Amino acid sequence: MQMNNRRPLVAGNWKMNGNLALIKQIEETFSKTDISHVDVVVCPPFPYLGGFSDNDFALGGQNISHFESGAHTGETAVSMLKEMNCQYVILGHSERRADNYESNELVANKVGLALKHKLTPLFCVGEPEDIRDNGQFFDFIAEQLNAVIKEVGIAAFNDIVIAYEPIWAIGTGKTASPEQAQEVHAFIRQHLAKQDSNIANQCVILYGGSVKGSNAVELFSQPDVDGGLIGGASLNPEDFLSICLAAKR
Ligand code: PEP
Repeated sequence: MQMNNRRPLVAGNWKMNGNLALIKQIEETFSKTDISHVDVVVCPPFPYLGGFSDNDFALGGQNISHFESGAHTGETAVSMLKEMNCQYVILGHSERRADNYESNELVANKVGLALKHKLTPLFCVGEPEDIRDNGQFFDFIAEQLNAVIKEVGIAAFNDIVIAYEPIWAIGTGKTASPEQAQEVHAFIRQHLAKQDSNIANQCVILYGGSVKGSNAVELFSQPDVDGGLIGGASLNPEDFLSICLAAKR
């Protein structure tokens, strides 16, 4: 196995949940524990971004507009996330792909825009259940990756975090087994390595889909799993903390 210096990362995706009280609870919980072995990111809904104080964790948005500014009611510009101290943004989440008809090309566009503004994309890929069942999931994921590689080039993956999130495991309680997660993470790395093996080796790849305190250690101990993108469990500060502590040291 090639040496790497990938730093583990755990990101919490609050989705359209949470409130001001949760910000307080999570800040209090995290202030008592050393989490310096892992990069932690919290991605609350946009209105709450300004409610966080200086923390041991970074902030991320859950989306950006594919426009830079202008007459686009209801949208949020990438520059606004920067101004609100975000360092990351979730892009290509399966819920946005489904609810907002985001295509691979649109997601790739947004990844390019985030990089232009020095925001790290948490770029999500992952297959629905029927594609898992018919065995076409490697091709499906390769297509999602290829759209972004085509738009920003392989070198940009130095500054992109990939999250593998099988759709059948998101919010369902049906976690991928550590072996299933590892198999796809290794595939993603090999796919990037066809173009640049160093970049593939250094790229941080997260697993997402019903990660909990009780399964995080096993998932994160897989060689190509560098951390997690956490939905439901990130709304419980104690659970989220225990997931962060499960990251590799
Ligand atoms: C997610 O929404 O990115 C996610 C992984 O959700 P959950 O952890 O609830 O499955």
